[in-house]
This record gives sequence, C-alpha cells and structure tokens, in this order.
Amino acid sequence: MSLETEFERHTLPLEFPFGISRGTATDAEVVTVRIEDDEGLVGVGGAGPSSHYGETPDTVAAVLPDLLAVVEDVGDPHELERIERRMRETVNRNPAARCAVSVAVHDLVAKRLEVPLYRYWGLDPEDTLETSYTIGLDDPETMREKTETALERGHGRLKVKLGTDRDIEIVRTIRSVAPDVDLFVDANEAWTPREAVRKIDRLAEFDLEFVEQPVAAEDPEGLRFVYERSSLPIAADESCITVEDVPRIADRCDIANLKLMKCGGLREAKRLIHTARAHGLEVMCGCMTESNASIAAACHLAPLLDYADLDGSLLLEEDPYDGVPMSGGEIDLGGLERAGTGAVLEE
Ligand SMILES: [Mg+2]
Repeated sequence: MSLETEFERHTLPLEFPFGISRGTATDAEVVTVRIEDDEGLVGVGGAGPSSHYGETPDTVAAVLPDLLAVVEDVGDPHELERIERRMRETVNRNPAARCAVSVAVHDLVAKRLEVPLYRYWGLDPEDTLETSYTIGLDDPETMREKTETALERGHGRLKVKLGTDRDIEIVRTIRSVAPDVDLFVDANEAWTPREAVRKIDRLAEFDLEFVEQPVAAEDPEGLRFVYERSSLPIAADESCITVEDVPRIADRCDIANLKLMKCGGLREAKRLIHTARAHGLEVMCGCMTESNASIAAACHLAPLLDYADLDGSLLLEEDPYDGVPMSGGEIDLGGLERAGTGAVLEE
C-alpha cells in the first residue's frame, strides 16, 4: 500500500471578534492535511495551532513534511499506534501539527472500513452531549447581544469568557437574558488565587456549573488554593495539556479539559480521558477556533465525555468543511450519514 499526503493553509474569518483574557482574534488560521490511499480514499485532518502553546501556522507547516514522511514510510494507515508513536519521536512538541495527521489517518481508516469513527471505536451514538457555545469577551452590551443570538439558534449551554474588572456585571447581564441555560465561565488564568475565591463566591449566586482555569497554569499551588476554597467546581484547561499533567492536577480540580490541539492526537486524547477518569476527574473536551477538518473528529469522543466544548466551527463566519450535525449544539453522531469523521468540503 502507498499513501500520498499534502497540506494547505487557510485563514478563516470568525463570525464575531473572539475575546478572551489574553487578547482578541478575528480569524482562525488553520492547516488542513489530506492523506490519500491507493484506492482513492482521502482522510482529512486539521491543525488549529495556538500561539499560547508555542505553535503557529508557520511552525505547523515547518514540521508537517517530517510528520507526513512518517505516514508515507509506515505506509499502512491502520497502524495508528505506530504512526502516532513515530510522530512523537520525530517531533516531540508541535501537538497541533501531529493532531492534524492523527485525525487524517483516523478519518482514512474509518472510511476504508466504511463506518463512522465512533463506530470504529465501538461508542454509542445515543450517548452524546450538547456542546457549549462560547460568548467571547466584549463589552457587556455586545455580550448580551451575542447571547441572544445564541439562544435564537437553539443553544442551551453557554460558556462565558471572563478575566476582567467587570466579570460579575458580565455574568449578571447574561443571566438576565438567559435565565434557563446551562452556564459556565472561563477566566483563562486571569485571576489571582484570592481574587478567584472572592469572585467565585459572588458568581455562585448565578447558578453556574463550574469555573474553568481561574488562575495561571504556572501556579499549581494557586490552583489548589482555589480548589480547596471554591464554592463551584473547577476545570483545568491551561493546567492540563498532556496525559502526564493528569496526576499533577488530580487533587486540585474537578474536571480535566482536554483538547486535541494540546495533547497531539486522537489516541492521546483517549489515553487522557481514561487517565483522568482513573484519577476520579470528570472530563471535558474543548477546542481552539478550528474548522470541521478537526472538530468533526473531536465530536466522535462525545460518548466518552461529561462535557463538550466543541464550538470551534460554530464560531467561524463560514466553515469550508461540513462535519457532524450540530443543530442547536446537540452533537448528533447518529445523524451522521458518512464514514470517517464526517469532515467533507461543503459543496
Ligand atoms: Mg479554556
């Protein structure tokens, strides 16, 4: 068997400017990988590199030739374990670049077997979740308008970005127009430990599910300080990058938030999920601003998750790729009528 590979860079405008505590983005820069077997079947994967984790479209493009050379050298897409291990040996960092290849190879394998990816994994498509939809940081009035737009589109789970001097006002405003939605917040490391405990006490009156990454990842003692005093459950995102981080965070949070672009691939993601469960944690899968070239694959993990935060494609002005049906945010794996991850170029 022989495999042909290629990749391409895209800049995808976001529907709204996307603000978090560290800054605001107006587009998503992604890299799409295609791997074709000698029967003409094509696996698609995507990288959504994050500069916070040291990756850019340039670094992805720089290492992809070496990673794709591994795939061509192994030659058999079904050798997923060998491919991911050899990619890690070739490029130890660059998880988004490795992830693009991991997703493309998984997509190709499931297409060769003529089943959706969840079925290849033996997962129950009914055991799925609704993804949260993220309201990026902005002035409270704009955040209220974005919330109303999300409600009109049928979303019943919202995530609100915080990390400002008006966090309480933001949540009060959003709760006033969305009294019944499931709601959680993400401070993206912006608070000091004492500030976090104080703010979480006040935020708890707005019936929030949990608080994501209240303090800096570089301050594990601060995370423990908050966890031991918090009136709401705590999720670790920036503090939980790879499977090796799970034992380190297990006694200082309630939820591990994995992302394909942090851990470097689908097999790593599954390892992280099972490791987190073994440590008594709940599991969420989040994402970067990405297209369905990668989001569609993450959707197939839904039956293994407690929370899905897979709105990357929904935040785009227009996604060139179609993926798993997600009307109103409900990840409808059973409604996917294609083999593989479901990522396919829109007609
Ligand atoms: Mg986060």
